[in-house]
Amino acid sequence: MQSNKLPAPLRKVVDELAQLPGVGPKSALRMGLTLLKWPQEKAEGLGESIKQLRRTLCLCEQCASLTDQNPCAICADVARDGSVLCLIPDWDSLLVMEEAGFFRGKYFVLGGLLSPLDGVNPDQLELDRLEKRLDQGEIREVVLALGTTTEAEATESHLKNLLHRKYPDLRVARLAQGIPLGAHLKFMDRETLKQSMQYRQSL
Ligand SMILES: [Zn+2]
Repeated sequence: MQSNKLPAPLRKVVDELAQLPGVGPKSALRMGLTLLKWPQEKAEGLGESIKQLRRTLCLCEQCASLTDQNPCAICADVARDGSVLCLIPDWDSLLVMEEAGFFRGKYFVLGGLLSPLDGVNPDQLELDRLEKRLDQGEIREVVLALGTTTEAEATESHLKNLLHRKYPDLRVARLAQGIPLGAHLKFMDRETLKQSMQYRQSL
C-alpha cells in the first residue's frame, strides 16, 4: 500500500514512524494500523509519553547525560569516586558501562566523536561543559573510554592535547588496548570493558 493512498492523519503518523531507526515503510504502516486498534486512552498515553520525553528530560549540567533531575543520580551519588572521570561518547555507552557495573567513578558524556568528514568538529562536542567540570578541581584522573574506531582515535588525540595543555596536573588515561580495532564502546562485553579499565594506560 502506497503511503499517499492512506488517509492523511494515518499517513502522517506512518511517515513519522518510518523516520525511526530500523523502521521501514512496511513496519511503520503496521505500527500505525496497530495504534489505530489500540483503545483511544492507550494511544493517547503513548502520545503523552513522547511529549513528556522532551519536556522532562534535560542534559545533566555536570556530565551532559540525559536526566530528569539535575544533577543526575550518578553525579549526585556521594558514594561514587568523584576523583575519576570516565569520558564516553554518548549516553548509550553510559548505559553499557553502568550495566557492566564495575566502574564506581563519575562520567562525562561528550555528545559524539570527532568526525571531520561528517562535519563533527570539536565545537559540537560538550567540551566547554567538560572544562567547567574540570575547573571545579575535584577530578584527579580522566579515563578516555571512546572505543577504537577512527573517530575515537581522532577524538582521543584531540582530548589528550587539550587536557595536557589546560590541566597539566591531571592524569589522563585511556582504556587498555586489547579491545578489538573498530569497536564501538557500546558493543563491548562486560569482561573486556572491565579489564580494559583495570589495565588502563596513561597518555
Ligand atoms: Zn550527571
